[in-house]
Formats: sequence, C-alpha cells, structure tokens
Amino acid sequence: MTIMHLPNLIRQISVPVMKPLTEQEIRTAFVNCTKGEAKRLTVPRDLAERCWDDLDFLGWRDPQAPDRAYVVAELSGRPVGIQLRSSGAGSWQLRRSMCSVCLTTHTGGVSLMVAPRSGKAGQQGNSVGIYICSDLACSLYVRGKKDTGIGARLHESLTLEEKTERTVANLASFIAKVSA
Ligand SMILES: [Zn+2]
Repeated sequence: MTIMHLPNLIRQISVPVMKPLTEQEIRTAFVNCTKGEAKRLTVPRDLAERCWDDLDFLGWRDPQAPDRAYVVAELSGRPVGIQLRSSGAGSWQLRRSMCSVCLTTHTGGVSLMVAPRSGKAGQQGNSVGIYICSDLACSLYVRGKKDTGIGARLHESLTLEEKTERTVANLASFIAKVSA
C-alpha cells in the first residue's frame, strides 16, 4: 500500500474506518465456520452504540465461552469474519509478548489464538495461529485510547493512518492464510 504524502489534516480525515455492521452482516461474513455455527455464535449486543470510527476491525470474546473469539474486518469493501480459539493457558501468557496485528507489547495481555482454516482444510483439523491482544482491542491501542501501562508501545514516528493501515494489513494477511 502506498502512503500518500498529504498534509496532516487530510491524513487524519482519511484514516480508514469501518462501516458499521449489522448482526446479519456479521453472521454472513464468517469464512471458517459452518452456517449453523455462524447463526449461533454470540454477536455483541451493543453494535449500534459502538464507536466504529475507532475500529480497524471488530473483535470480541464470547462471554459464554471465553476461549472463543471472533474478528470481523472489512477487506476490499466486504466484511470477512473468522472464529478463533485461544490455545489455553500457558507460561507464555505471563511473559511480555507482542501482538502481531497491532504490535503492542503487553505483559499477560497477548494470547496465542488459532483459527480453523476455511473449507476442507479446516474440516481436516488444519488451523493457523496468531499472537493477538487478548481483548482484541488492537484498534484502541493503536489510537492510544486504551493503555497497557508505561512503555507498552514503542514510540514510532508513524502517522495514525500508517499505523492503522499496518494493523489492517497484518490482520488481512492472517485472514488470507485462514481462507487460502
Ligand atoms: Zn493487538
């Protein structure tokens, strides 16, 4: 993706934001679960009140099944959703680790999650793993709207647009591996 060298004001306006999604759009977006699973999975109830302008993607944990997580991103103008499962507790959770989507470092706040691959590969048990913020709030860490503590994010001389583009690109490449 090329970064246009535009004045800061225009950059701020052009930070890519998500179009608000409805429950129905979310349920039909999933690429790595069955239609039945997509119909039953827990979708956040506060979709209408979300601040979508602050989101590069929508991510949430299932309150009824905390090891399950869901991510919906808008790729090429179309919502694409994936289900993930956290790989369970392990000593790595207590270490400082970096989210591979938003590059935020947390102590105990990054989870290794796995996504079953789409279609036949997934049915055969193939999955792809990713280290991601456990609360899936990457968009808010990138915008400085959520904090993990002092020194958690490396200081970078990138604009917000560049950081959000990188977040979306990292997530898109993971989703591409899941749906390949
Ligand atoms: Zn993150």
